[in-house]
Amino acid sequence: MKYDYDLLVIGAGSGGVRAARIAAGYGQKVAICEADQVGGTCVIRGCVPKKLLVYAAQYKKMFSTAKAYGWNIQSQFDWSSLISNKDQEIDRLNGIYLNLLDNAGVELLQGFGAFVDPHTVAVDGDHHTARHILIATGGIPAVPNIPGRDQVITSNEALNLAKLPETITINGGGYIAVEFAGIFNALGVEVNLVYRGQQLLRGFDDEVAAFAQQAFTEAGIRVITNTEIDAVEKTARGLICHAGETGIESDVVLFATGRQANTAGLNLQAAGVDCQANGQVLVNHDQASSTPHIYAVGDVCNNDNLTPVAIKEGHLLVNRLFNDGKEYPEYDFIPTTVFSQPEIGTCGLTEAEARSNHAHIECFTSTFRAMKYAMSDVHEKTFMKLVVNQQTDQVLGIHVVGADAGEMIQGFAVALKQGLSKTQLNKTIGIHPTSAEELVTM
Ligand code: NDP
Repeated sequence: MKYDYDLLVIGAGSGGVRAARIAAGYGQKVAICEADQVGGTCVIRGCVPKKLLVYAAQYKKMFSTAKAYGWNIQSQFDWSSLISNKDQEIDRLNGIYLNLLDNAGVELLQGFGAFVDPHTVAVDGDHHTARHILIATGGIPAVPNIPGRDQVITSNEALNLAKLPETITINGGGYIAVEFAGIFNALGVEVNLVYRGQQLLRGFDDEVAAFAQQAFTEAGIRVITNTEIDAVEKTARGLICHAGETGIESDVVLFATGRQANTAGLNLQAAGVDCQANGQVLVNHDQASSTPHIYAVGDVCNNDNLTPVAIKEGHLLVNRLFNDGKEYPEYDFIPTTVFSQPEIGTCGLTEAEARSNHAHIECFTSTFRAMKYAMSDVHEKTFMKLVVNQQTDQVLGIHVVGADAGEMIQGFAVALKQGLSKTQLNKTIGIHPTSAEELVTM
């Protein structure tokens, strides 16, 4: 059977682009289809633009500390300059992605791809056949089906608001909710952060989540827990979120209530591709779906929803398909950072996870004020926690809440992945004066 392509990738996000260009580098004939800008969630409407907004927000703390360091600064913030500069940067990155594909010899099929049969994808009506097909369509925001859901925005729109609101209500207690709460709060918006549970950041270490929640409150965010928004209504002044008897008013309502696999419209049944109950494409150890020559990588099929995971899955898949690769992604000790304010960097097990798997766990914690804030009126504290298996001395988890937590955790993650022991950690000489040195002296 002769096909148009060796590999056709649906979705030009982080995982899809990596798979496409590496496969083309191995001499395969490759096409990638994309209905939107090339770059996907991470580059166009996720990690990258969000991080630019986080940088903008961090200036608030810098201005607060500036005076102590002898700087007398008059500051004025302009949201539209930030958004237009952010858009230019995203366009620049989009251009880089397009060049990467072009230089690798990948054909870009601009349009929405949908299966016609197991080897054929229609892109805006044109049919293309391929020996292997990769689904890399990522995820989309999931908004619960409540009255007034059409009045709320998601993270997609939050990155492109025409003007900065005076007040915002953010629903959710995960990554996106706390990241945007930190951004808007620092930029002077009154923020209500509404969470249905008792403590934000479910799944993170309990002490870490509690410390972060306290820090968010101290930074000025109004954290409203045990509250489920059941309707959103437009009023003369803005919007009101109804939660039982409670009404929370604001100009804008942002729902950050999780994400779902982006498979609508792909016509997966025509290709015999099975999904899980939550819509994710069901894949095996080889990233293969129920139709063996159709694969999936990234948010459309995994629960980690992290760009580097999608990239690793895509890269190793095409290595195995086209270059005799033998390696598979490893999902233990994946480091992650919540770009809230303060930032949360974490790698490995939480204390609760460690205790449920090991009989003897010892935890080491430290709370201190980072040196750079010592002379200022910024009272933010840093919290660090090590989770150690007492029997083997292995460090099972490192958690940091505080400035630069992500930068710290990336380095420590390398050691954790290699089976770092507490003794090895303590044999390492610290770098003075840093916050990170605390981790080797606990
Ligand atoms: P998360 O799964 O992190 O959080 C979703 C939040 O919404 C939870 O607090 C959840 O509550 C709550 N929620 C879910 N459904 C409802 C509902 N019907 N009503 C009220 N609240 C609800 O999702 P996000 O959207 O924040 O992010 C999605 C994923 O994207 C993350 O898990 C992460 O993997 C990735 N991501 C990574 C980032 C990074 O690396 N910095 C940044 C942003 C996203 P409960 O806890 O009770 O379930």
